[in-house]
Amino acid sequence: MIVFSTTFHTKIPIGKVVVRGQEGMNRVQFFDAPPSKEEEAYSNHMDDLDHALDQAAHDPSVAVCVTDASLLLHGNFQAVLAAQIHVGGALVYAVHCPIGRVLAPDAEQAAIWLALCKTTTLPRCKSILVFTDSLASARHAVDPSVQSGQFLSLAVAHSLRPWLEASADQVVRFYQVPSKEEWQCHKEAHDFASDLKVSVGTHVLTSLNYLHAQGTKKCLDCWTTLFGVLSFRGNQFLELTNRLDKPMKLKYTGGGAWLSHLQGLPGFTTRCCCAILGHTPIGSFNAQFFPHQPTGCPCGAILKTRPHILGYCNCFTNHLKLPISMTDFIDFMKVNPRVFAFNTAPSGIG
Ligand SMILES: [Zn+2]
Repeated sequence: MIVFSTTFHTKIPIGKVVVRGQEGMNRVQFFDAPPSKEEEAYSNHMDDLDHALDQAAHDPSVAVCVTDASLLLHGNFQAVLAAQIHVGGALVYAVHCPIGRVLAPDAEQAAIWLALCKTTTLPRCKSILVFTDSLASARHAVDPSVQSGQFLSLAVAHSLRPWLEASADQVVRFYQVPSKEEWQCHKEAHDFASDLKVSVGTHVLTSLNYLHAQGTKKCLDCWTTLFGVLSFRGNQFLELTNRLDKPMKLKYTGGGAWLSHLQGLPGFTTRCCCAILGHTPIGSFNAQFFPHQPTGCPCGAILKTRPHILGYCNCFTNHLKLPISMTDFIDFMKVNPRVFAFNTAPSGIG
């Protein structure tokens, strides 16, 4: 296995390596697609793509690079990059090749690397337009700081800097193409990438991002397995369901599966955590840990348990039925602001 993890420590920001001088910053431009198709700016952006491509077809000094990548989610295949270069409306260069075990953004970055390095060698080229579905990868491609795939960015800087320095008029413009639009030019590059299938083999390039993703996946699998063991999770952990009516699953992004729903309100979060973990001053808790404390409910029930509070107790409203969804649970906690709350801090706390 070949791992490209060699990095060069540099604090030189984007643009200054690509071309010396502040003016170089404005000669590497990015045109992001608006996130929502409903926005007027979105259709304007698609019109801009058509216009830029049409203009380029009539100007032989403009090179159009279209890049894409293909990753098969099944089987043991390498990612494939594709780059097509058009000048004056004609296809002058096209390549698709395996790029090893990498993530989709890595493969796209490699496609941009190949396209830029080739385009800067074309004679009489004054302007480069790059059409890609990932501007994040495009930004990585011209950012030589420490990162996965830094060797590609350094190669881009090595090719692009002298090209930009050759004339103050020469520019590189990156346009984001939303994949779902199947914009014809980009669809061709996509199909070109998908045409090639190469198995992984024994000595294959592996990106640092890919290894990080594999490590994270293994940790998450292990965490999920452990969470299925009652002795690890805790017997009192409240089973809640997600929007698909499936049990909530562990996740480490976006604030986690549970906390991301709690809006960051300290008191509310505390009550919800107490309720979910079963660590809350109710009768069943007192019976286990503070046997001299009261265990009954003001409504008359002999034992104030969590199922009693959530499902039946007439001290509270908006009762819940099994299975309990996270959304309904949050509503119940909001409608009943004193439920599962400590009246006073227990001895030894606070
Ligand atoms: Zn009650």
